[in-house]
Amino acid sequence: MTFSLTILGATGSIGRSTADVVIAQRDAFRVEAVVGGRDALALAQVARRLGARFAALADESGGEALKEALSGTGIGSGAGQSAVLEAVEREADTVVAAISGTAGLAPTHAALKPGRRIALANKESLVCAGAAFMADVRRLCIDLLPVDSEHNALDHALAAGMNRDVEKAVITASGGPFRTWTRERIAGASAKEASAHPIWSMGSKINIDSATLMNKGLELIEAHHLFDLEADRLDVLVHPEAIVHGLVQWSDGAVTAGLALPDMKVPIANALRNERRLRMDLPRLDLAAIGRLSFDRPDEERFPCLSLAKAALKAGGAMPTILNAANEIAVAAYVADRIGFYDISEMVEAVCSTFSGRRLAAPETVAEALNIDEEARRAARQAVSAHDRTARL
Ligand code: NAD
Ligand code: MG
Repeated sequence: MTFSLTILGATGSIGRSTADVVIAQRDAFRVEAVVGGRDALALAQVARRLGARFAALADESGGEALKEALSGTGIGSGAGQSAVLEAVEREADTVVAAISGTAGLAPTHAALKPGRRIALANKESLVCAGAAFMADVRRLCIDLLPVDSEHNALDHALAAGMNRDVEKAVITASGGPFRTWTRERIAGASAKEASAHPIWSMGSKINIDSATLMNKGLELIEAHHLFDLEADRLDVLVHPEAIVHGLVQWSDGAVTAGLALPDMKVPIANALRNERRLRMDLPRLDLAAIGRLSFDRPDEERFPCLSLAKAALKAGGAMPTILNAANEIAVAAYVADRIGFYDISEMVEAVCSTFSGRRLAAPETVAEALNIDEEARRAARQAVSAHDRTARL
């Protein structure tokens, strides 16, 4: 049986790995639509490679280039937000949500159609609008499967028991490129150094989030919404080998863990499975060859973004939305070399504390979440201007 698939963020790191899985499973999937951000030629290439029926580019100005690159192929195309929505609306059994950042929220939310499966990579959708998003997931009977490797592992581990018997659900962090660096050395780190992840090859925003450990904080918030677990039943362990991705400790002391080699094709294939798992021709985990697995507690002194995210999760209300928005602006400024590494956490903290007195309730709709997101971004942009080192030169 063939299942139809639409891929949002098809030209990115997760999108490309998804394309590899689909190519390896030619008989299992038919690609309906692919969506990309700005790169028309890369989108045309993936559309051709996958034999998609429709390609949509978010950037309106790239429409002509996309059309030209697809001419003679019979693949339809469009550009701008209406084309992205058209792609999302087209009939497809599964939608892979792999746009990066909060830009992924609106298209991912629009993809929630009754009975559909969503393979969710875009964690920011849940961090920004978790309660509203999950309410619609339940109302529309969406089969939501996490692509994030830690959540994919937890999804399996949690199937071994019941939510009320979970004492702790733990996600692991490889520790990023600065795991062994001193605080002083990290303080002077460039965005290029922060992007050199020792294990995973990823998009630029998640790369920086992995270096600050904000990624792990966002993942705690993601886990809270996906699995209905409160902050005090969630934890993080540093695990440099990145083999154990998630663990569940049960009330009787037993632990169920999800293990795999660190290759995103494994959780992607898993999230795309149907009644049966796909047969993937990937290297197998050889624990004897690896020999040792090591674990450590995260150092929140050197990686304050993790404690900021934990605090936002505990505070609840709109605080995760605000944290996420401030982080996106701060990361973009760091990548542009406008601020230093620890300015990211300082700015996020400053923006969160500006809003903390207002005790804003958790947004009840995606539109409400996006309004709060925009307000927090404005505050974050002001904070960037105050920190901006290029302005001081
Ligand atoms: P990436 O930057 O490599 O790719 C992002 C994709 O989104 C690209 O196709 C880009 O063109 C598209 N895009 C960006 N802005 C858009 C917009 N406004 N409209 C439409 N498309 C747009 O990012 P990535 O590493 O593939 O990550 C994607 C998502 O998956 C993120 O939310 C990330 O947190 C999550 N994730 C990634 C990994 C990984 O290993 N890369 C692992 C777990 C979770
Ligand atoms: Mg992850």
